[in-house]
Amino acid sequence: MYTYLKDHKYYEDRYDEGTIDRCRSGESMVNGTFKELEKKLPKKELSEKLPGWYLQYSQMYFFLVEKPAASRAEQRDATITKWMEEDQAKDEKLASAHIKGETYCRSCGKDMRVISKDYMQRDGHKEDILFMFECEGCNKRLALWLDGTEWEGAKHQCEKCGGNTVSKHTKKLGVITSTETCEKCKHTKTTKLDLSDSKKESEPVDPYIELDRKRFVFDSDALFKYSQKLKHFERMAKLHATAEDKVQHADVYDGIKQVKRLKIAQLKELLEPIFINEGYSDFKLGDPQFGREVSLDFSCLDTKDDREEYQSKKTLHKAIERALVDTNWRLMSAGVSYRLGFLSGSLRAYESEDDLKKLVEQRMKNGYAPVTEKKENATPDASLKNEFYNRDMRESALIYFDKLTLGSIPGEKTLKSGKIKQTSIPVLSGVMNPLLRVFIPMRDNDESVPKFVRNYDFKFGDRTTGL
Ligand SMILES: [Zn+2]
Ligand SMILES: [Zn+2]
Repeated sequence: MYTYLKDHKYYEDRYDEGTIDRCRSGESMVNGTFKELEKKLPKKELSEKLPGWYLQYSQMYFFLVEKPAASRAEQRDATITKWMEEDQAKDEKLASAHIKGETYCRSCGKDMRVISKDYMQRDGHKEDILFMFECEGCNKRLALWLDGTEWEGAKHQCEKCGGNTVSKHTKKLGVITSTETCEKCKHTKTTKLDLSDSKKESEPVDPYIELDRKRFVFDSDALFKYSQKLKHFERMAKLHATAEDKVQHADVYDGIKQVKRLKIAQLKELLEPIFINEGYSDFKLGDPQFGREVSLDFSCLDTKDDREEYQSKKTLHKAIERALVDTNWRLMSAGVSYRLGFLSGSLRAYESEDDLKKLVEQRMKNGYAPVTEKKENATPDASLKNEFYNRDMRESALIYFDKLTLGSIPGEKTLKSGKIKQTSIPVLSGVMNPLLRVFIPMRDNDESVPKFVRNYDFKFGDRTTGL
């Protein structure tokens, strides 16, 4: 009887072979993709942007090889346990399988003994158990399914003349051979059923199987490297997400920088002449209200006899908005109220960066466009943009580089007098952060790996020009 449950090593090998297959196909996909690219890209592009191309390779390798390898490793024990339990259950079910009655010899009527039981595919059933009986008296054999039905293979008619056939079954090394011989024309037909699942045919020798097992079947060290790389990629994604966000909001930051932050006295100076110009007198500011926000009441009198309420309110409203458009003050949404030529309203101040950002965004929605500042004029003060820029530069350096050192190389400087002075040129050098690299070692001299990947030395900055 065929036994399904095998030793632990059998399942380990079976699982690991699956892992190796998966990783090999991922690896060949990455290598194939980048070899094509290597052929198509101009030489200059690859040499000038080598770290960038390497990084892309490493990312794709991560998702197609390292990540699947890690997830296979994580599921290894549980899967092997499950397989073993399934096979054990199969063995137990087979061992206890039994056919009731009708197991007598169809020729001589004597009882027959079971000589084998096997799982087999049966038409219309998932999997069934086939019993092979042998007559103790006349040695004739009979094959029955678990439910007592005779094996269909034994009932066929001659395919040539349609006459009855006599069948004979033999079993050798897990293969049932059924031979049907026609009683009329003596035509014979042989059917073979392979019950063993081992592929005994010699497969071509796989020269890299041991090497690839070490490369792709992760131990705890490799899993740790994987988790470090995953975290690092997440950190990199975060850096770029905020960079993108800033590109989108670039003019908002320009806008914030351009907001004039006025004290109350300056606000008064700004508004008073505008009120007068528009025909309003007795401009007054009330006491500031300091709550969660700062607000300030104002009032004035309309001096134009023929100006109606609607026109008066609208004119003043517009004049105030125009005057405040590049300041941190705004007319509150209630607007201007009017009674017998007495106009009043409230102004609100914006102080925090967050509030200012909201204010600028709101104004931009209404069509206000901040003047785009020329980059050359950017001063190294703590303006918002520079703050972000510096912070990201630092984070970028931490993400992309390792072993950064500031050194110097000898150089020459031509002075105004024409004299040549010996000097030294500072150079920043380092290597690509190891966490960004492919951590599965490549096979020696593996021609399927793109050249630029095989030859990349991860160094930068100390070639010819420095940084
Ligand atoms: Zn018999
Ligand atoms: Zn025949």
